[in-house]
Amino acid sequence: MRLMDTRTRQVEEVVPSQPAHLRMYACGPTVYRYAHVGNLRTFMLHDLIARTADVVHGWQVSLVQNITDVGHLEDDSAIDAVGEDKVLAQARAEGKTPLEIARFYEEAFHRDCLALNIKPASAYPRASECIDLMLTLITDLVSKGHAYLGTDGTVYFDARSFPGYGAISGNRLEDLRAGHRLDAEASSAKRFHADWALWKSAGGNRLMVWDSPWGPGFPGWHIECSAMSLELLGTSFDVHTGGIDLRFPHHEDERAQSEAAVGHEVVRHWVHGEHLLHEGRKMAKSTGNVVLVSDVLARGHDPLALRLFFLSGRYRQQMDMTAAALAGADKRLSRWRARVAEWAESPSAAAPESYVARVYDAFREDLDTPAALVVLGELEKDPSIPAGAKFEAFVHLDRLLGLDLARDVGRAADVLPAGARELLDARAAAREAKEWAESDRLRTELAALGVAVTDSADGQAWSVA
Ligand code: AMP
Ligand code: ZN
Repeated sequence: MRLMDTRTRQVEEVVPSQPAHLRMYACGPTVYRYAHVGNLRTFMLHDLIARTADVVHGWQVSLVQNITDVGHLEDDSAIDAVGEDKVLAQARAEGKTPLEIARFYEEAFHRDCLALNIKPASAYPRASECIDLMLTLITDLVSKGHAYLGTDGTVYFDARSFPGYGAISGNRLEDLRAGHRLDAEASSAKRFHADWALWKSAGGNRLMVWDSPWGPGFPGWHIECSAMSLELLGTSFDVHTGGIDLRFPHHEDERAQSEAAVGHEVVRHWVHGEHLLHEGRKMAKSTGNVVLVSDVLARGHDPLALRLFFLSGRYRQQMDMTAAALAGADKRLSRWRARVAEWAESPSAAAPESYVARVYDAFREDLDTPAALVVLGELEKDPSIPAGAKFEAFVHLDRLLGLDLARDVGRAADVLPAGARELLDARAAAREAKEWAESDRLRTELAALGVAVTDSADGQAWSVA
């Protein structure tokens, strides 16, 4: 498969370094609030890569996704993240312990992923349970001269000790300035303004604090992903995903830490998903325009309508979510499910290879899911393909799409018997052409199949007796 590699800025062929085994790391959620559907769009990216690897290439997939339950600070827009830990802040707001908050939202995250048919990772390491790994890595970085103890008791990564800094984001160290008011204090404690915290001294924080060779404290956010990926996927793995905003500083810093520790490039391909917008603005808690899976359900939509909507845009393009777009996706999803249920009634036939190959090609070519949907739309309407073959193709390709397209198979009440759809289409055409006698004849034919047709200003409606 080919994927856009953020570091090389090219679409690259992804060839697993272990034969037929793709190893991938996906940045996971910070569990202090419900994931919004923008976060879920990003989590669908690794799912699409994993499904393509499995279905199209027949590769085994090992996927690790971290759960950030400590160490992600409120304001990581600054070069050196400062402020309060997000989980701690929410715990205080809800009057709960940080662990209660973290576990509650972690479970909600898994439920949301399930609702979107995002397949589970092989491992979900929690930051709070990997502190020793991080301490070992930080100790290693200090001993190799890539990290040092600041005058404030915090351990910093020495950005200037890593010459390749900036390759992912294009940011150059000399261009980065301490641009944040809260940076002032940290700035005087570290050697260079772009150095970032690996281990923060506890200060006034008494919750979620661990002992370390540098006194009590807690880990920085970026070190978590280095420690976990190196431990669980090894010193070289194939793909690393995340939302586009993680390019800098999160992934830039992770890359520096990992490479400084092992002495060579660790991540073979960095792949980033573009943002989901809502009514024209990036969906974000801070913007106040978040939509949750529960909101989508409350609007009467199937959660997989969201998945189909996401598939209608390519992962590296921004998408604007509107009520109309979501409703349109829901309609198409229902129609495809009804069609698949109808086709299931026909004699089975082999899936048409050319259509399957075109959908495979679309996924293989940098996850061109909009192109894949166009191919499926053509197949739906192609009169030369027997219904049984369409059924096989849609059900098979659903392993890539993940839309539960066979869900309504066998739910007799709203399933048309074999041949009825063609008669309905012919009748609609006859009415369009004002061929009333033909329209009546087709109505009688449909009645013989047990399908009652009524006409209204909106066209014909049918029910199965
Ligand atoms: P967080 O739980 O805040 O650490 O974010 C989880 C993932 O969602 C990260 O990979 C972010 O880059 C991604 N993300 C955040 N906002 C959006 C958005 N509006 N659209 C798509 N992905 C997003
Ligand atoms: Zn990460």
